[in-house]
Amino acid sequence: MTDKLGFALVTGASRGIGAAILARLSDDGYPVVGTATTSPGVATIDHWLTERGRAGSGWLLDFRSATIESLEEAVKNLEQRWGPVSVLVNNAGITRDDLLLRMTGALWDEVIEVDLSAVFRLTKACLRGMLRARGGAIINLSSVVALSGNPGQVNYAAAKGGILGFTRSLAQEVGSRGVRVNAVAPGLIDTDMTREITPEQKKLLMERIPLRRLGKVEEVAGCVSFLASPAAAYITGETLQVNGGMYMS
Ligand code: NAP
Repeated sequence: MTDKLGFALVTGASRGIGAAILARLSDDGYPVVGTATTSPGVATIDHWLTERGRAGSGWLLDFRSATIESLEEAVKNLEQRWGPVSVLVNNAGITRDDLLLRMTGALWDEVIEVDLSAVFRLTKACLRGMLRARGGAIINLSSVVALSGNPGQVNYAAAKGGILGFTRSLAQEVGSRGVRVNAVAPGLIDTDMTREITPEQKKLLMERIPLRRLGKVEEVAGCVSFLASPAAAYITGETLQVNGGMYMS
């Protein structure tokens, strides 16, 4: 069971899906800490919270330069202020697309670093507190391409597929200690990440989506809120697909 003794930590909360998750978990009553890679991003999160008189804060964090040790130290400081992490949402992510034959090692490494290794590092930093509190929910953002594959995204699909194996394995490690671990796999959601799709590409994609539209960030946030809530108390190791029917399994 997840209670609201502690706080919710959302990575990549400055915009897109992460900003909607931060808002939704705050609406649900959690103090929320959201990360951003820039000071203006942190200020956006702080402003959103103070404007509404909500508990929480922004945290300047770039996974390209964060070690397990620096994350453990930062999480310890946050726990002193807000109590244990009740909900960890590993949402931050990037794409660096290219066909495999053209993909450089740097493009591969950056995506694996930010989309997969960061999930390992931050989860490790938060888990001890959750186990001590004997409760918590971890929700990892995967993607439809982890299941369907997508040409031009071998790095991203590998990272997002890795998240699913990570989620199921950790769920088995910590279930007996009251911590649930689940994944959300969005399809095409209307954010900065999908705004570069050309109208022609969008038209073709729409034909593959039974609901005939992009998803809204609030629709992903609602699923995260559900997985964090007592309504999902018997769900762990699961992947919730939020893709308008684009891929069914
Ligand atoms: P987005 O709008 O591009 O936002 C990405 C977030 O990640 C931003 O808050 C960004 O922070 C943060 N971030 C980027 N690089 C980072 C780094 N090195 N260290 C720490 N944080 C970093 O993305 P989104 O569309 O909301 O996607 C959110 C999650 O959902 C991602 O994991 C993505 O893979 C997944 N997803 C999205 C879609 C979609 O259609 N949009 C579909 C499937 C899965 P700054 O603002 O500071 O740059």
